[in-house]
Amino acid sequence: MTATTAASAAYIVAGLLFVLSLAGLSRHETAKTGNAYGMAGMAVALVATIGLAWRNGDPLSVGLIVVAMVLGAAIGLWRARIVEMTGMPELIALLHSFVGLAAVLVGWNGYLSVEGAPAGEAEQLGLPVGIHSAEVAIGVFIGAVTFTGSIVAFLKLSGRIRSNPLVLPGKNAFNLGALAAFAVLTVVFVVSPGLAVLSGLTVLALALGWHLVASIGGGDMPVVVSMLNSYSGWAAAASGFLLDNDLLIITGALVGSSGAYLSYIMCQAMNRSFVSVIAGGFGNEGSTASAAVEGEHTEITAEEVAQLLRDADSVVITPGYGMAVAHAQSAVADLTRTLTDKGVEVRFGIHPVAGRLPGHMNVLLAEAKVPYDVVLEMDEINDDFAKTSVVLVIGANDTVNPAAMEDPGSPIAGMPVLHVWDAEHVVVFKRSMSTGYAGVQNPLFFRDNTRMLFGDARERVEDILRAL
Ligand code: NDP
Repeated sequence: MTATTAASAAYIVAGLLFVLSLAGLSRHETAKTGNAYGMAGMAVALVATIGLAWRNGDPLSVGLIVVAMVLGAAIGLWRARIVEMTGMPELIALLHSFVGLAAVLVGWNGYLSVEGAPAGEAEQLGLPVGIHSAEVAIGVFIGAVTFTGSIVAFLKLSGRIRSNPLVLPGKNAFNLGALAAFAVLTVVFVVSPGLAVLSGLTVLALALGWHLVASIGGGDMPVVVSMLNSYSGWAAAASGFLLDNDLLIITGALVGSSGAYLSYIMCQAMNRSFVSVIAGGFGNEGSTASAAVEGEHTEITAEEVAQLLRDADSVVITPGYGMAVAHAQSAVADLTRTLTDKGVEVRFGIHPVAGRLPGHMNVLLAEAKVPYDVVLEMDEINDDFAKTSVVLVIGANDTVNPAAMEDPGSPIAGMPVLHVWDAEHVVVFKRSMSTGYAGVQNPLFFRDNTRMLFGDARERVEDILRAL
């Protein structure tokens, strides 16, 4: 068996392990096993790649790979240790930008070593230059869109720039024009590959990536994160074609298609048009202003909440991003156990985009050992709020905002939300009257059956536990 055949066999094994990994990650119970499959697949892939470089008698490549891996692993381990759960989305966006940048560099390297190489070199290698040029153009385009798009997502998610959508006049014309220009430049590049055309195409793609994500408003950012995940997969697959690496093609296609599917599911959950979101908020120009929300809010103390809970038959907890910021999940789990022991039915209502990551709340609650069977999806619990004595809204805001249903001018109009206001009593845990991620005021806070419990969510839950 030659080294290349052995590497191909190892790549197939790694590809299968990645498929098993995705299958595992689709359910809570099997997520850990799924992760283990993914790590095993990556280990097989790395050993095969390094082994192949070694057998091909290229010690310099092996040396470079080892240095890059040691550096990358050291930085990765350091970041993974210090990153807060609330900082994960921006870290993921930043990592997507690296994939995009890598695809751009691989594309440019492909150009410089084939089309841009001294005349006759490509022919000597026996390469069909036309196909290679198309791969370079497509790889650089997808990579550059992913690169700048992910950087804007990183800046928005980390609060370094505002999350409001950028609404340029003629923004749709710009996006469509950029796509048409990409098609023309690709044809020109295939016919006559030149430095100027590839440079123009790169700049165009960088601008398009920036504009696509800048045009998408705060409430739609979850879809953007999964969409960029998908783009990074396609960028990796494009690099796989250029580098003639089957595993990179398989892995890229798996990431690209699963990311696209996740974006589609999230769009459905948020009642958004998939095409509209991937086209940078296409057709969404009107929804940037919402009606002013005014009214009086009523405060409540932790002791009074404890009394409400003592008298309750059923309690629903709807956690949001603030629970993650406050690290309140363990205290919330203790509260759940205490109330359950007192004979109160306690369940959780999880909105599909609560927090800052798909599944963010589920992960936190699982970490705090809240049983899976009391953690329900939005659709499973929404009809039950009318029969609920007390709803505890712990650090959630946009996901419980009735304006999404009642104000057609709201930026989050049409997004399904948890109908918490149907319950007998609603207690909102937050530190101030400020808005949530989408920057929209919440009329829930001014309803007659709503009480505001101000302060850090963990401290307030612990106060309630003491009072109970
Ligand atoms: P929001 O971001 O709408 O609101 C969070 C609330 O938590 C704020 O009102 C804040 O109010 C409060 N809060 C923050 N820190 C604390 C604390 N220490 N103690 C108590 N309260 C606190 O949260 P939701 O989960 O309801 O909504 C998620 C939003 O994020 C949606 O708009 C979604 O589209 C978006 N998003 C979701 C992603 C995902 O994949 N899930 C990814 C990217 C964006 P105050 O400051 O007054 O305390």
